Amino acid sequence: MDYEQAFGQALEALRRERRYRVFNEIERDASRFPRANWRSPAGPREIVIWCSNDYLGMGRHPAVIAAMVETARRTGAGAGGTRNISGTSRAIVELEAELADLHGKPSALVFTSGYVSNETGIATLARLLPDCLILSDAGNHNSMIEGVRRSGRDKAIFRHNDLAHLEELLASAGARPKLVLFESLYSMGGDVAPIEAICDLARRYGAMTYLDEVHAVGLYGARGGGIAERDGVMERVDVIEGTLGKAIGVVGGYIAGKSAMIDAVRSFAPGFIFTTALPPAVAAAATVSIRHLKSSKLERERHRTQVEKTKRALTQAGLPLWPTETHIIPLMVGEAGACKAASDLLLAEHGIYIQPINFPTVTRGTERLRITPTPFHDDDLIAALAQALVEVWRRLELPFATSAPAQAAE
Ligand code: PLP
Repeated sequence: MDYEQAFGQALEALRRERRYRVFNEIERDASRFPRANWRSPAGPREIVIWCSNDYLGMGRHPAVIAAMVETARRTGAGAGGTRNISGTSRAIVELEAELADLHGKPSALVFTSGYVSNETGIATLARLLPDCLILSDAGNHNSMIEGVRRSGRDKAIFRHNDLAHLEELLASAGARPKLVLFESLYSMGGDVAPIEAICDLARRYGAMTYLDEVHAVGLYGARGGGIAERDGVMERVDVIEGTLGKAIGVVGGYIAGKSAMIDAVRSFAPGFIFTTALPPAVAAAATVSIRHLKSSKLERERHRTQVEKTKRALTQAGLPLWPTETHIIPLMVGEAGACKAASDLLLAEHGIYIQPINFPTVTRGTERLRITPTPFHDDDLIAALAQALVEVWRRLELPFATSAPAQAAE
C-alpha cells in the first residue's frame, strides 16, 4: 500500500469539503494583550486577537506569570513523572484544594487538559457504575462524546437543552444507574443550560449529574465558580468539570465532587494514571489565577461591560449577531467558503484575527465567526472591529441583519 497516498487522499477529501484547517502562526504579546504578532506570508505583523479563550487575559497577569517562573526556577520545568511516580507535587495538591473550594466540593482531581478530564473521567465513572445508561446532551463537546464512547456503556442523546426529551429518556430507563452529561455554557452558540431543572429531573429519576463548566469557570458566579455558582446550584451537581486553559489562563483540566467518586477516578482512570503530571510551575500559576479570581471582581465586571459594548456596536452596525446572554458572540455567515474568506480578509486587511468556525464544529449552514471580547478589548478596538466587519460584509456581499447598516459603524 502507498501509505502516504492514503493520507493524502484523506486530506484531499477535507479540502474538497472546505474543511481543511490552516493554522495561523501567532505569537501573543503578554505586554500588549490582546495584541499579537502574526507571521504573515509578507513578514511579521501586529494584529488584534478577537477569538481568544483566554477570556480574562489571566495568561498575561503578572502574578500568574511570576508564580510560574518562580516555581519553575525552584522545582524545574517538568513534573518528573506520573502522579504515582514522583509527580504529586505540593503545587498540584494545593491546586486541587483550591479547586475543591472553588466549587464547594470535598475533593478535586487535576488532569493534563479539560479534554482528558472529560474523556477519561466520563469513561471511568460510567464503567464503575454497573449497567449505567449515559444521557448526553446533543450539543456536548467532542471530549465528552469520546468519554461516552470509551465507557462502552449504553447511551441516549437528548435534544439540546430539551428537558421534556431528557425526562422521557430518564423515565423509560427504569431503575438502572444513569449519568446525565451536559455543559453549563455551550461555547459555539453561547447559550446556557437549565442546570437546576436538569438536576431536579436527575433527582426525580435517581440519576447522577456531570456538568462541564469549561467556558464558564472564572467568568460567572461571585468567586468565578461558573454558571452553577451564579445560579446557586453548585451543590446540586454531582461532578463539575473544568479547564485551567481558558479563563484561568494556563493549561490543564479537573473534576470536582464527592470524595469517594474522585478517589475512584484517581484509582481507575487510565488518562490520569498513565501520564506525566502537570508541571508544578503550571499548577502554581493556575492556583494564583484561581485565587485572584475568587476575590477580584474587577476582571469579570470589565469583561461584562466590554462584551455588552461589543454586542451593541455590532448590532448597531447591522451585523447578524446570534443573540446570547453570555460572553460569546456568534456572528452568523452560513457558508464555509464565505466564513473562511471573511476571516482571511479581516486578518489580511484589518489586522483582526477571528478564526472561522465551520463543520463539524457547527452544523452546515450555521458557519460563523465566534467573537470573544476580553476586558482588554477597549472601546477603540471595539469600534475598529465593527468598522472592519462592515467593510468585509460589504466586500463579500454577505447579508446584514438590517437592510441599512447604521451610520455609527461606517
Ligand atoms: N469541554 C468543552 C466544552 C470545550 O469546549 C473544550 C475545549 O477546549 C474542552 C472541554 C477541552 O478543554 P481543554 O482545552 O482544557 O482541553
